[in-house]
Amino acid sequence: MSLLDKCAAYTRRDELREVGLYPYYTPFEGHGRPVARLDGNEYLMCGSNSYLGLSVDPRVREAARTAIDDYGTSFNGSRLLNGNSKLIEELEAELADYFGKPAALVVGTGYQTNLAAVGTLLYRDLGDPKRIALVDKQVHASLIDGIRLSRSADAALRWFRHNDAEDLDRKLAACPSDTETLVIVDGVYSMEGDLCDLPAIVEVCRRYDTTLLVDDAHGASVLADGRGTAAHFGLTDDVDLMTISFGKGLGSCGGVVLGSEILIQYLRNHARGVIFSSGLGPADAAAVLETVRIMRDEIWRPKRVLEIADEIRRSLTALGYDVGPSASPIVPVTMPDDATVFTAWRKLMDLGVYTNAVIGPAASPRLRTSWMATHTPEHVDRAVAAFAAIRDEILPR
Ligand code: PMP
Repeated sequence: MSLLDKCAAYTRRDELREVGLYPYYTPFEGHGRPVARLDGNEYLMCGSNSYLGLSVDPRVREAARTAIDDYGTSFNGSRLLNGNSKLIEELEAELADYFGKPAALVVGTGYQTNLAAVGTLLYRDLGDPKRIALVDKQVHASLIDGIRLSRSADAALRWFRHNDAEDLDRKLAACPSDTETLVIVDGVYSMEGDLCDLPAIVEVCRRYDTTLLVDDAHGASVLADGRGTAAHFGLTDDVDLMTISFGKGLGSCGGVVLGSEILIQYLRNHARGVIFSSGLGPADAAAVLETVRIMRDEIWRPKRVLEIADEIRRSLTALGYDVGPSASPIVPVTMPDDATVFTAWRKLMDLGVYTNAVIGPAASPRLRTSWMATHTPEHVDRAVAAFAAIRDEILPR
Protein backbone atom coordinates (compact mmCIF):
# COMPACT_ATOMS: atom_id res chain seq x y z
CA MET A 1 0.00 0.00 0.00
CA SER A 2 1.34 3.41 -0.92
CA LEU A 3 -0.09 6.86 -0.58
CA LEU A 4 0.62 7.25 -4.28
CA ASP A 5 -1.71 4.38 -5.29
CA LYS A 6 -4.66 6.76 -5.46
CA CYS A 7 -2.73 8.94 -7.89
CA ALA A 8 -2.03 5.97 -10.15
CA ALA A 9 -5.73 5.04 -10.00
CA TYR A 10 -6.79 8.53 -11.19
CA THR A 11 -7.48 8.13 -14.91
CA ARG A 12 -10.47 10.44 -15.43
CA ARG A 13 -8.41 13.30 -16.88
CA ASP A 14 -6.77 11.05 -19.50
CA GLU A 15 -10.09 9.46 -20.46
CA LEU A 16 -11.72 12.85 -21.03
CA ARG A 17 -8.67 14.24 -22.83
CA GLU A 18 -8.60 11.36 -25.26
CA VAL A 19 -12.10 12.24 -26.48
CA GLY A 20 -11.46 16.02 -26.46
CA LEU A 21 -13.71 16.66 -23.46
CA TYR A 22 -11.20 17.73 -20.81
CA PRO A 23 -11.95 21.43 -20.26
CA TYR A 24 -9.36 22.28 -17.60
CA TYR A 25 -5.81 23.67 -17.55
CA THR A 26 -6.09 25.06 -21.09
CA PRO A 27 -2.63 26.54 -21.83
CA PHE A 28 -3.53 29.83 -23.52
CA GLU A 29 -0.73 31.83 -25.07
CA GLY A 30 -1.60 35.15 -23.42
CA HIS A 31 -4.37 36.45 -21.20
CA GLY A 32 -6.41 39.54 -20.42
CA ARG A 33 -7.73 40.39 -23.90
CA PRO A 34 -11.18 39.47 -25.22
CA VAL A 35 -9.55 37.15 -27.75
CA ALA A 36 -7.03 34.52 -26.60
CA ARG A 37 -4.67 32.35 -28.65
CA LEU A 38 -4.21 28.62 -28.27
CA ASP A 39 -2.20 26.38 -30.61
CA GLY A 40 -2.31 29.01 -33.36
CA ASN A 41 -6.10 29.46 -33.14
CA GLU A 42 -8.06 32.39 -31.71
CA TYR A 43 -10.81 31.95 -29.12
CA LEU A 44 -13.28 34.51 -27.89
CA MET A 45 -12.57 34.62 -24.15
CA CYS A 46 -15.87 34.40 -22.29
CA GLY A 47 -14.40 33.18 -19.02
CA SER A 48 -11.89 35.74 -17.79
CA ASN A 49 -12.19 37.48 -14.42
CA SER A 50 -10.43 40.59 -15.72
CA TYR A 51 -13.74 42.46 -15.62
CA LEU A 52 -12.25 45.86 -16.44
CA GLY A 53 -9.74 44.59 -19.00
CA LEU A 54 -6.95 46.43 -17.19
CA SER A 55 -4.40 43.62 -16.76
CA VAL A 56 -3.11 44.36 -20.30
CA ASP A 57 -3.50 48.14 -20.13
CA PRO A 58 -0.24 49.88 -21.21
CA ARG A 59 -0.24 52.12 -18.10
CA VAL A 60 -0.55 49.12 -15.78
CA ARG A 61 2.17 47.20 -17.61
CA GLU A 62 4.47 50.23 -17.48
CA ALA A 63 3.91 50.57 -13.71
CA ALA A 64 4.77 46.88 -13.26
CA ARG A 65 7.93 47.28 -15.35
CA THR A 66 9.02 50.33 -13.36
CA ALA A 67 8.52 48.43 -10.09
CA ILE A 68 10.73 45.64 -11.39
CA ASP A 69 13.37 48.22 -12.30
CA ASP A 70 13.17 49.71 -8.80
CA TYR A 71 12.73 46.58 -6.67
CA GLY A 72 13.61 43.59 -8.88
CA THR A 73 11.26 40.64 -9.25
CA SER A 74 10.76 39.81 -5.58
CA PHE A 75 10.62 41.41 -2.16
CA ASN A 76 12.82 38.52 -1.04
CA GLY A 77 11.23 37.77 2.28
CA SER A 78 8.34 38.13 4.69
CA ARG A 79 7.27 41.71 5.35
CA LEU A 80 7.62 41.10 9.06
CA LEU A 81 11.37 40.84 8.55
CA ASN A 82 13.21 42.15 5.50
CA GLY A 83 10.45 42.07 2.87
CA ASN A 84 8.43 45.20 3.63
CA SER A 85 8.50 48.11 1.15
CA LYS A 86 7.31 51.65 0.55
CA LEU A 87 5.45 50.29 -2.48
CA ILE A 88 3.26 47.87 -0.49
CA GLU A 89 2.60 50.48 2.19
CA GLU A 90 1.58 52.96 -0.50
CA LEU A 91 -0.71 50.31 -2.00
CA GLU A 92 -2.33 49.61 1.38
CA ALA A 93 -3.00 53.32 1.93
CA GLU A 94 -4.49 53.65 -1.57
CA LEU A 95 -6.76 50.59 -1.13
CA ALA A 96 -7.98 51.72 2.31
CA ASP A 97 -8.80 55.15 0.92
CA TYR A 98 -10.46 53.86 -2.27
CA PHE A 99 -12.65 51.26 -0.55
CA GLY A 100 -13.46 53.55 2.39
CA LYS A 101 -12.01 51.56 5.31
CA PRO A 102 -9.49 52.82 7.91
CA ALA A 103 -6.75 50.25 7.24
CA ALA A 104 -5.60 47.53 4.83
CA LEU A 105 -3.34 44.47 4.88
CA VAL A 106 -2.06 43.12 1.57
CA VAL A 107 -1.60 39.31 1.34
CA GLY A 108 -0.03 37.01 -1.29
CA THR A 109 -3.22 35.75 -3.00
CA GLY A 110 -6.98 36.14 -2.52
CA TYR A 111 -7.11 32.57 -1.27
CA GLN A 112 -4.44 33.26 1.34
CA THR A 113 -6.20 36.52 2.26
CA ASN A 114 -9.28 34.60 3.36
CA LEU A 115 -7.18 32.02 5.22
CA ALA A 116 -5.42 34.90 6.99
CA ALA A 117 -8.57 36.79 7.92
CA VAL A 118 -10.83 33.90 8.91
CA GLY A 119 -8.19 31.51 10.23
CA THR A 120 -6.61 34.16 12.45
CA LEU A 121 -9.81 35.66 13.84
CA LEU A 122 -11.43 32.31 14.65
CA TYR A 123 -8.20 30.75 15.90
CA ARG A 124 -8.86 29.22 19.26
CA ASP A 125 -6.29 28.44 21.91
CA LEU A 126 -7.06 26.43 25.02
CA GLY A 127 -9.12 28.64 27.32
CA ASP A 128 -10.38 30.95 24.55
CA PRO A 129 -14.13 31.42 24.24
CA LYS A 130 -15.96 29.24 21.72
CA ARG A 131 -16.03 30.79 18.27
CA ILE A 132 -18.61 30.01 15.61
CA ALA A 133 -18.65 30.96 11.93
CA LEU A 134 -22.08 31.38 10.32
CA VAL A 135 -21.52 30.89 6.63
CA ASP A 136 -23.66 31.38 3.53
CA LYS A 137 -23.97 28.04 1.70
CA GLN A 138 -22.34 29.47 -1.43
CA VAL A 139 -19.26 31.28 -0.15
CA HIS A 140 -15.89 30.66 -1.74
CA ALA A 141 -13.88 27.56 -0.70
CA SER A 142 -11.03 29.68 0.71
CA LEU A 143 -13.31 30.98 3.49
CA ILE A 144 -14.18 27.43 4.52
CA ASP A 145 -10.51 26.48 4.43
CA GLY A 146 -9.85 29.45 6.74
CA ILE A 147 -12.29 27.98 9.25
CA ARG A 148 -10.49 24.62 9.00
CA LEU A 149 -7.19 26.36 9.64
CA SER A 150 -8.50 28.03 12.77
CA ARG A 151 -8.42 24.77 14.77
CA SER A 152 -12.03 25.48 15.70
CA ALA A 153 -12.66 22.98 12.88
CA ASP A 154 -16.05 21.72 11.78
CA ALA A 155 -17.68 22.16 15.17
CA ALA A 156 -17.43 25.91 14.59
CA LEU A 157 -19.03 25.92 11.14
CA ARG A 158 -22.77 26.58 10.84
CA TRP A 159 -24.21 27.01 7.36
CA PHE A 160 -27.16 29.25 6.60
CA ARG A 161 -29.24 29.08 3.44
CA HIS A 162 -27.95 31.09 0.52
CA ASN A 163 -28.81 34.78 0.86
CA ASP A 164 -31.42 33.97 3.51
CA ALA A 165 -31.20 36.54 6.34
CA GLU A 166 -34.06 34.88 8.23
CA ASP A 167 -32.16 31.60 8.32
CA LEU A 168 -29.07 33.50 9.51
CA ASP A 169 -31.20 35.08 12.24
CA ARG A 170 -32.36 31.63 13.40
CA LYS A 171 -28.81 30.26 13.38
CA LEU A 172 -27.45 33.26 15.32
CA ALA A 173 -30.25 32.96 17.86
CA ALA A 174 -29.27 29.32 18.40
CA CYS A 175 -25.63 30.17 19.25
CA PRO A 176 -24.91 29.94 22.99
CA SER A 177 -24.48 33.40 24.58
CA ASP A 178 -20.88 32.69 25.60
CA THR A 179 -19.72 32.26 21.98
CA GLU A 180 -18.11 34.81 19.65
CA THR A 181 -19.55 34.73 16.13
CA LEU A 182 -18.36 35.62 12.63
CA VAL A 183 -20.85 35.93 9.77
CA ILE A 184 -19.29 35.17 6.37
CA VAL A 185 -20.77 36.14 3.00
CA ASP A 186 -19.54 36.97 -0.50
CA GLY A 187 -20.47 40.35 -2.01
CA VAL A 188 -21.04 38.78 -5.42
CA TYR A 189 -21.23 34.99 -5.53
CA SER A 190 -18.62 33.55 -7.85
CA MET A 191 -20.68 30.75 -9.40
CA GLU A 192 -24.18 32.31 -9.55
CA GLY A 193 -23.10 35.90 -10.16
CA ASP A 194 -25.85 37.10 -7.82
CA LEU A 195 -25.43 39.86 -5.24
CA CYS A 196 -25.46 39.34 -1.50
CA ASP A 197 -28.63 40.62 0.14
CA LEU A 198 -26.38 42.80 2.27
CA PRO A 199 -29.08 45.15 3.66
CA ALA A 200 -30.98 42.19 5.16
CA ILE A 201 -27.79 40.47 6.39
CA VAL A 202 -26.54 43.69 8.03
CA GLU A 203 -29.91 44.26 9.68
CA VAL A 204 -29.66 40.82 11.33
CA CYS A 205 -25.99 41.30 12.27
CA ARG A 206 -26.83 44.59 14.00
CA ARG A 207 -29.22 42.77 16.34
CA TYR A 208 -26.51 40.38 17.53
CA ASP A 209 -23.07 41.20 18.83
CA THR A 210 -21.49 39.62 15.76
CA THR A 211 -18.70 40.38 13.31
CA LEU A 212 -19.39 40.53 9.56
CA LEU A 213 -16.93 39.53 6.81
CA VAL A 214 -17.69 40.19 3.14
CA ASP A 215 -15.47 38.60 0.48
CA ASP A 216 -15.86 41.05 -2.38
CA ALA A 217 -13.53 39.40 -4.92
CA HIS A 218 -16.16 39.79 -7.65
CA GLY A 219 -17.97 42.95 -6.53
CA ALA A 220 -14.90 45.17 -6.07
CA SER A 221 -13.98 46.93 -9.34
CA VAL A 222 -17.51 46.43 -10.70
CA LEU A 223 -20.31 47.58 -8.37
CA ALA A 224 -20.66 51.23 -7.23
CA ASP A 225 -18.33 52.37 -10.06
CA GLY A 226 -15.70 49.99 -8.71
CA ARG A 227 -15.97 50.52 -4.96
CA GLY A 228 -17.77 47.23 -4.47
CA THR A 229 -20.83 45.61 -2.96
CA ALA A 230 -20.82 47.32 0.44
CA ALA A 231 -20.57 50.75 -1.23
CA HIS A 232 -23.31 49.72 -3.69
CA PHE A 233 -25.67 49.30 -0.72
CA GLY A 234 -24.23 52.25 1.25
CA LEU A 235 -23.15 49.83 3.99
CA THR A 236 -19.35 50.11 4.00
CA ASP A 237 -19.28 51.07 7.70
CA ASP A 238 -21.36 48.02 8.66
CA VAL A 239 -18.86 45.57 7.22
CA ASP A 240 -16.15 44.71 9.77
CA LEU A 241 -13.84 42.90 7.36
CA MET A 242 -13.77 43.19 3.60
CA THR A 243 -11.51 40.81 1.68
CA ILE A 244 -10.68 41.35 -1.98
CA SER A 245 -8.67 39.23 -4.43
CA PHE A 246 -6.47 41.12 -6.89
CA GLY A 247 -6.91 38.26 -9.35
CA LYS A 248 -10.23 39.49 -10.80
CA GLY A 249 -11.08 43.06 -11.82
CA LEU A 250 -7.95 44.41 -10.14
CA GLY A 251 -5.96 42.51 -12.74
CA SER A 252 -3.03 41.21 -10.74
CA CYS A 253 -2.12 38.66 -8.07
CA GLY A 254 -2.61 39.06 -4.33
CA GLY A 255 -5.38 40.15 -2.02
CA VAL A 256 -6.26 42.57 0.74
CA VAL A 257 -8.14 42.59 4.05
CA LEU A 258 -9.74 45.94 4.88
CA GLY A 259 -11.05 46.93 8.30
CA SER A 260 -10.33 48.91 11.45
CA GLU A 261 -6.78 49.85 12.49
CA ILE A 262 -7.00 47.53 15.50
CA LEU A 263 -8.11 44.57 13.40
CA ILE A 264 -5.48 45.11 10.73
CA GLN A 265 -2.63 45.54 13.25
CA TYR A 266 -3.71 42.29 14.92
CA LEU A 267 -3.78 40.40 11.61
CA ARG A 268 -0.48 41.95 10.51
CA ASN A 269 1.18 40.48 13.58
CA HIS A 270 -0.68 37.18 13.92
CA ALA A 271 -1.79 35.92 10.49
CA ARG A 272 0.46 32.97 9.64
CA GLY A 273 -0.07 33.42 5.89
CA VAL A 274 1.41 36.91 6.24
CA ILE A 275 4.17 36.32 8.77
CA PHE A 276 5.45 33.12 7.18
CA SER A 277 5.12 34.11 3.50
CA SER A 278 6.96 36.43 1.13
CA GLY A 279 3.65 37.32 -0.51
CA LEU A 280 3.12 39.04 -3.84
CA GLY A 281 5.93 40.62 -5.85
CA PRO A 282 6.74 44.22 -6.84
CA ALA A 283 5.19 43.94 -10.32
CA ASP A 284 1.91 42.65 -8.86
CA ALA A 285 1.77 45.39 -6.23
CA ALA A 286 2.56 48.20 -8.68
CA ALA A 287 -0.01 46.84 -11.15
CA VAL A 288 -2.81 46.97 -8.54
CA LEU A 289 -1.75 50.44 -7.40
CA GLU A 290 -1.93 51.77 -10.97
CA THR A 291 -5.21 49.92 -11.60
CA VAL A 292 -6.88 51.56 -8.60
CA ARG A 293 -5.69 54.97 -9.77
CA ILE A 294 -7.17 54.31 -13.21
CA MET A 295 -10.42 53.03 -11.66
CA ARG A 296 -10.91 56.39 -9.92
CA ASP A 297 -11.24 58.06 -13.34
CA GLU A 298 -12.44 55.46 -15.79
CA ILE A 299 -15.81 54.59 -14.37
CA TRP A 300 -17.02 53.77 -17.88
CA ARG A 301 -15.35 50.39 -17.41
CA PRO A 302 -17.58 48.97 -14.65
CA LYS A 303 -20.62 50.55 -16.31
CA ARG A 304 -19.73 48.96 -19.65
CA VAL A 305 -19.12 45.46 -18.29
CA LEU A 306 -22.46 45.53 -16.47
CA GLU A 307 -24.20 46.61 -19.70
CA ILE A 308 -22.56 43.76 -21.60
CA ALA A 309 -23.60 41.21 -18.98
CA ASP A 310 -27.18 42.57 -19.07
CA GLU A 311 -27.25 42.11 -22.80
CA ILE A 312 -25.86 38.57 -22.57
CA ARG A 313 -28.45 37.66 -19.93
CA ARG A 314 -31.27 39.00 -22.12
CA SER A 315 -30.03 37.24 -25.25
CA LEU A 316 -29.35 33.87 -23.64
CA THR A 317 -32.68 33.94 -21.81
CA ALA A 318 -34.43 34.66 -25.12
CA LEU A 319 -32.71 31.57 -26.54
CA GLY A 320 -34.20 29.47 -23.72
CA TYR A 321 -31.12 29.24 -21.47
CA ASP A 322 -31.41 29.58 -17.71
CA VAL A 323 -28.94 32.17 -16.37
CA GLY A 324 -30.16 32.05 -12.76
CA PRO A 325 -30.21 35.12 -10.51
CA SER A 326 -27.03 36.63 -11.97
CA ALA A 327 -26.72 40.45 -11.69
CA SER A 328 -22.99 40.96 -12.28
CA PRO A 329 -20.37 40.27 -15.00
CA ILE A 330 -20.66 36.57 -14.09
CA VAL A 331 -23.40 34.90 -16.15
CA PRO A 332 -23.78 31.16 -15.51
CA VAL A 333 -25.55 29.12 -18.17
CA THR A 334 -27.30 26.17 -16.53
CA MET A 335 -26.73 22.73 -18.07
CA PRO A 336 -28.84 19.63 -17.45
CA ASP A 337 -25.94 17.45 -16.22
CA ASP A 338 -22.15 17.14 -16.03
CA ALA A 339 -21.87 15.26 -19.35
CA THR A 340 -23.69 18.08 -21.15
CA VAL A 341 -21.34 20.64 -19.59
CA PHE A 342 -18.42 18.88 -21.28
CA THR A 343 -20.11 18.46 -24.67
CA ALA A 344 -21.42 22.05 -24.69
CA TRP A 345 -17.94 23.30 -23.75
CA ARG A 346 -16.42 21.30 -26.65
CA LYS A 347 -19.01 22.50 -29.16
CA LEU A 348 -18.41 26.12 -28.18
CA MET A 349 -14.63 25.60 -28.44
CA ASP A 350 -15.14 24.22 -31.93
CA LEU A 351 -16.97 27.48 -32.70
CA GLY A 352 -14.02 29.44 -31.27
CA VAL A 353 -15.65 30.42 -27.96
CA TYR A 354 -14.10 29.67 -24.56
CA THR A 355 -16.30 29.31 -21.46
CA ASN A 356 -15.57 27.82 -18.05
CA ALA A 357 -16.93 24.29 -17.51
CA VAL A 358 -18.21 23.85 -13.95
CA ILE A 359 -19.48 20.63 -12.39
CA GLY A 360 -20.00 19.40 -8.84
CA PRO A 361 -18.83 19.70 -6.15
CA ALA A 362 -17.91 23.31 -7.11
CA ALA A 363 -21.51 24.04 -8.18
CA SER A 364 -24.40 22.48 -10.09
CA PRO A 365 -23.61 21.85 -13.80
CA ARG A 366 -23.09 25.03 -15.79
CA LEU A 367 -20.95 26.94 -18.22
CA ARG A 368 -19.73 29.92 -16.27
CA THR A 369 -19.33 32.89 -18.57
CA SER A 370 -17.79 36.14 -17.39
CA TRP A 371 -17.46 39.41 -19.27
CA MET A 372 -14.99 42.23 -19.72
CA ALA A 373 -15.40 45.97 -20.32
CA THR A 374 -13.19 45.49 -23.38
CA HIS A 375 -15.53 43.04 -25.14
CA THR A 376 -16.95 44.79 -28.23
CA PRO A 377 -20.53 44.55 -29.54
CA GLU A 378 -19.17 42.18 -32.24
CA HIS A 379 -17.72 39.90 -29.55
CA VAL A 380 -21.07 39.82 -27.77
CA ASP A 381 -22.88 38.98 -31.02
CA ARG A 382 -20.40 36.20 -31.76
CA ALA A 383 -20.85 34.64 -28.34
CA VAL A 384 -24.63 34.78 -28.55
CA ALA A 385 -24.54 33.28 -32.09
CA ALA A 386 -22.43 30.38 -30.80
CA PHE A 387 -24.87 29.69 -27.95
CA ALA A 388 -27.72 29.88 -30.46
CA ALA A 389 -25.96 27.39 -32.77
CA ILE A 390 -25.60 24.72 -30.07
CA ARG A 391 -28.95 25.38 -28.40
CA ASP A 392 -30.94 22.50 -29.88
CA GLU A 393 -28.18 19.94 -29.37
CA ILE A 394 -27.75 20.94 -25.73
CA LEU A 395 -31.09 21.71 -24.16
CA PRO A 396 -34.06 19.39 -24.05
CA ARG A 397 -36.78 20.69 -26.39
N1 PMP B 1 -12.73 34.65 -3.10
C1 PMP B 1 -13.54 34.44 -4.15
C2 PMP B 1 -15.00 34.78 -4.02
C3 PMP B 1 -13.03 33.93 -5.34
O1 PMP B 1 -13.83 33.70 -6.40
C4 PMP B 1 -11.64 33.64 -5.42
C5 PMP B 1 -11.01 33.10 -6.71
N2 PMP B 1 -11.62 32.01 -7.26
C6 PMP B 1 -10.84 33.84 -4.30
C7 PMP B 1 -11.42 34.37 -3.16
C8 PMP B 1 -9.38 33.51 -4.32
O2 PMP B 1 -8.67 34.53 -4.94
P1 PMP B 1 -7.26 34.32 -5.65
O3 PMP B 1 -7.54 33.75 -7.00
O4 PMP B 1 -6.66 35.67 -5.68
O5 PMP B 1 -6.47 33.36 -4.80
